[in-house]
Amino acid sequence: MTRPELRLDGNVLRANIAAVQRRIAPSELMIVVKDDAYGHGLPWAVETAIESGVTWIGSFDVRSAIDVRRVAGGGARIFAWVTSTDAEIDEALLHDVDLGIGTADYLDRVIARATAIEVRARVHLKIDSGLHRNGILPEDWADAVATARAAEAAGVLELVGIWSHIAEASDAEDDEAQAVFLEAVRQVGDTGAAPTFLHLTASAASWWRPELRGTLSRIGAFCYGVRSADGPELDGIRPVATLTASVVDVVDGDAVVAIGSFDGIPSTLAGVAVGTPQGARELRRIDQTRSVVAGWPGATVGDVVRVFGAGEWGESSATTLAERIDTVGEEILTRLTSRVRRVVV
Ligand SMILES: *Cc1c(COP(=O)(O)O)cnc(C)c1O
Repeated sequence: MTRPELRLDGNVLRANIAAVQRRIAPSELMIVVKDDAYGHGLPWAVETAIESGVTWIGSFDVRSAIDVRRVAGGGARIFAWVTSTDAEIDEALLHDVDLGIGTADYLDRVIARATAIEVRARVHLKIDSGLHRNGILPEDWADAVATARAAEAAGVLELVGIWSHIAEASDAEDDEAQAVFLEAVRQVGDTGAAPTFLHLTASAASWWRPELRGTLSRIGAFCYGVRSADGPELDGIRPVATLTASVVDVVDGDAVVAIGSFDGIPSTLAGVAVGTPQGARELRRIDQTRSVVAGWPGATVGDVVRVFGAGEWGESSATTLAERIDTVGEEILTRLTSRVRRVVV
């Protein structure tokens, strides 16, 4: 069976990482690998990032943090920020994973587990800077900091970071969020040594708003070459992944290719342009496991069509496609199913 392929270019991932690191310096890169590294495959992305000298990996949940630890080995710092069960907390502590903490209850549970299993927890406290999606409210901040400081004095916790997340939708809102964030940092500084790691920004703000960057920047999309929807191209950043499908039939001059909605391609993408050996052609129809592409002179079974990504023909990226159906490139990438073979080129 001819399966579609997501071709992953390690040189491009390394070049993107280097471009991001140059852009954000002296802020340090934490590469985000949630959602199976945005569909690129977590082990490959982590291995390539570590080879590139990346020292911080952001993994969302504890389960994938432990997958990261397996690939990355002992040296890497791993940050998992989703509120987790007690069993997951134990696993995280035993695998030397830093925890992001956004509620007082979670802080209490992490302290309890660290005390019980006698492992000092490395904690990054999250202030709610306006998104209201997990994060300690400013009015509860002083209590949470006092709790963390007491646990630090007892030797079961180390307050290594302060962080928050911003919408990156409007400069004014992001500025307000930063003001809340900096006030939270100031309050922590009043209670003892300031934590080393301050992180607020993801791809877009890290790239475009240097004044918002902390000592660490959590970046996923731009490392994978996924630019913001309706955003400009980025200097030195290219798509890491190219999605290809093979021609399996030629009918009435149209090319039938082996990729469809069961592979994760939204059927609403019908009408977009895809790359063929003779240039861009319309993707006419998307069925479950097959799609129809407007033919080209000499179209032959075995020809390869590029749905998105880097290549000689056409110019689409996952984001270019996503814009056609009012979504973001990440959604196109993360929906690709396991029928799509990930191939490192
Ligand atoms: C996904 C995520 C990021 C990375 O966002 P990008 O826009 O892909 O760089 C950073 N921080 C948090 C908390 C996230 O959930």
